[in-house]
Amino acid sequence: MPTSADPAYVALLPSAGMGHLTPFLRLASSLVSLGCHVTLLRPLPIVSSAKSLQFSDFLSSHPSVHCLDLHLLPFQPSSADSTDPFFLQFESISRSVPLLLPLEPKPSALVTDIFLASSVAPVARARLNLPCFVLFTSSASMLSLCASFNIPGSRFVDASMIPPVLRDPNNPFTQQFSTNGAALAGMDGVLVNTFDALEMRALAALNQGEVLEGLPRVFTIGPLKPLERRRAQARELEWLDGQPERSVVYVSFGSQTALSEEQIKELARGLDRSGFSRHWFMGRVKERGLVVKDWVEQEEILAHGAVATFMSHCGWNSVTEAAMHGVHVLAWPRNGDQRINAGVVEAVGMGRLFKGWEWGCGGEKVVVGEVVEEELREIMEDARVVAGAARVREEAVRAVAVGGGGGGSRDSLTGLIEKLG
Ligand code: UDP
Ligand code: UDP
Repeated sequence: MPTSADPAYVALLPSAGMGHLTPFLRLASSLVSLGCHVTLLRPLPIVSSAKSLQFSDFLSSHPSVHCLDLHLLPFQPSSADSTDPFFLQFESISRSVPLLLPLEPKPSALVTDIFLASSVAPVARARLNLPCFVLFTSSASMLSLCASFNIPGSRFVDASMIPPVLRDPNNPFTQQFSTNGAALAGMDGVLVNTFDALEMRALAALNQGEVLEGLPRVFTIGPLKPLERRRAQARELEWLDGQPERSVVYVSFGSQTALSEEQIKELARGLDRSGFSRHWFMGRVKERGLVVKDWVEQEEILAHGAVATFMSHCGWNSVTEAAMHGVHVLAWPRNGDQRINAGVVEAVGMGRLFKGWEWGCGGEKVVVGEVVEEELREIMEDARVVAGAARVREEAVRAVAVGGGGGGSRDSLTGLIEKLG
């Protein structure tokens, strides 16, 4: 068991959703490789078998990580609550946070998710007597919106990028976004899976007090290194091996969002018309029979030389993975932070926003196959985004290189660990 002194000993409490769990496990792995002791607080029960598999794989490949279960209180949603399973799960974790007991030995810090910030911060301070950090699982640009959400007129994000849901003050998502955003000021620091060259402007604004005076320091720690894969995916890789270099369009809308059935048909038609090879995965496709719902090891696909373009919903993990592998992105955001993340992709020059994009397209508003075809042809011939993605990749590699110097992500994380130790 670790002692509370040197080296740093960090406790991590992740929230619901694969897109949130993934960066927490990646951070845990990075901390271990930098010599830290790590305790992982695991909310139980875990709602999806995918996530419990993710936890058990992680724990068996990181035997030094101590796992402590947080048994969630039963939670009966009221009619005012959202019925979104992701919302219900983080609400349930949030309500169970007061069950946390002082950890023995005492960690140097507790790191939690932004969705849990307002419930964890008071418990960390009053009961656990620990410094509390947030691992913000989206972009620094989205963090700017979150941190300044309650301050009229100080928006750092173009209003058109703000998802419609956040324009409804009575929506439970808006309420939690606002409450947790307000809790940021009381944190000891915010860790973001990004790097200087990817979000130069947002990071400077955040750390120079322009977004919110009194905001704690923002530590860039990305791109976080993916975990070692334990399951082979021979089928996908074999298929990719048979394709010419840079000829494949990889299409994925992440683990949470589904396109409408009609949109999937049009997308398929557009892909066929474009003549490019494709590999695609539709997360959370609830419709029957049209597309086989399957999980792929996205990292390995993006790393494969046959992949040219990534048609992505721009979940932040997907964006950082594309950045790391120098794959350019055709951004088709659906909801939440995705339009803001797509803005990062465009601004840094590693991709383009799907032309004619608007909120709701892909769902109730259908983009026809001809537009998909045209967009694919244009991006495949766009030398600027190919060069942009290659440049971003170089910067990503530099940010996490040992002795990168110049305040990169690795220096930022090791600096934080030294401070905590
Ligand atoms: N999935 C899988 N393997 C994984 C991760 C996910 O097969 O390692 C599939 C699985 O079918 C699951 C779906 O992806 O039901 C969505 O998983 P996720 O954990 O994202 O569920 P959510 O966070 O939306 O509850
Ligand atoms: N992912 C994957 N295989 C899939 C779909 C998704 O490995 O078939 C991974 C992807 O690499 C990323 C995460 O799941 O790490 C999805 O997170 P992201 O933030 O991109 O989107 P979300 O699913 O949260 O909308």
